[in-house]
Amino acid sequence: MLDADYAARIDAVRRRAHGRWTELLGALGLDERMLKRKPMACPVCKDGVDRFQFTDKFGEGNYHCRKCGPGGGFKLLQACTGTDFHAALCAVEKALGTLPHTARSAEPSPEWMKKLAQRIWNEARPVTVGDAVDRYLRSRRLGLAAYPPSLRFHPALGYYRKEGEGKARKVAEYPAMLASVQSPQGLVTLHRTYLPDGCKLDAEDAKKLLSGGYVGASVQLAAATDELAVCEGIENGIAVLLATGKPVWCAMNAANLEKLWVPDTVRRLCIYGDNDAGTDFTGQASAYALARRARREPVPGGTRQVDVFIPRQPGSDWAEVWRQRQEGAQKEPRLHAA
Ligand SMILES: [Zn+2]
Repeated sequence: MLDADYAARIDAVRRRAHGRWTELLGALGLDERMLKRKPMACPVCKDGVDRFQFTDKFGEGNYHCRKCGPGGGFKLLQACTGTDFHAALCAVEKALGTLPHTARSAEPSPEWMKKLAQRIWNEARPVTVGDAVDRYLRSRRLGLAAYPPSLRFHPALGYYRKEGEGKARKVAEYPAMLASVQSPQGLVTLHRTYLPDGCKLDAEDAKKLLSGGYVGASVQLAAATDELAVCEGIENGIAVLLATGKPVWCAMNAANLEKLWVPDTVRRLCIYGDNDAGTDFTGQASAYALARRARREPVPGGTRQVDVFIPRQPGSDWAEVWRQRQEGAQKEPRLHAA
């Protein structure tokens, strides 16, 4: 199976190269006469005298041969240089870097990113007892007897590092926890937590979203009833679920918590914020910003009951409170509303 992140890389190169193949193939040293679209011997099937013509008909480096048929820039480059696809891809990437920039964006479209998210999601499977996700969550005292379908286990997810001008290179594959990020319209993107050896990867970007464009969307650990609990992180969400049994939605970060979409069927909203008192109070600010909006939004039959819960200790979140409580290390306020 073609690795989904590798497919994204190919897609990005194709987009950037679109309409620029004559320039690119010239920069990569291909025959001038060919690029001037002269009929000639075919470099692909190595036959004839005038059966081949480079046309760039669709902006994809297109050519046509009367014997071996049509093809595009990557295939032509491979044939002319005697390299494989990957080498051709790298060469085009490199050449694109040296060509003057155009307004064309290298960013894949939101539709493409949604398809990519779906493809990676389909490669993963439900979380089961004993897999890397279960072991990771259990190590944080967040193990569940049955895991929500919004979480999945991916046995070997590509891990990429950016190099220089925004190009990402695959440096490893790790087991990972995937979380589906849902809007009212369905899957928007994926949240990934890399878990080598059942532990969270020791890196800044051990957790990351596959793409942007998820404003208001959330990881839904259970369907909302007339009651809903919300928080930032997924581990926090599981802690709240374990402690309260309420349906929980995770916004993933403070900025998105503030903007979270809450169904108007929710009559009681409980917001479990992070305590960022040690720094800039972001956790509290976004929790109260959501509280204010949720309280003001008209819902059928009146207003919502909204409560905000913040852990007592600066710098802590509810996953930490839960862990400490399980270990009996410290007394904290009850997660339940009184
Ligand atoms: Zn040919």
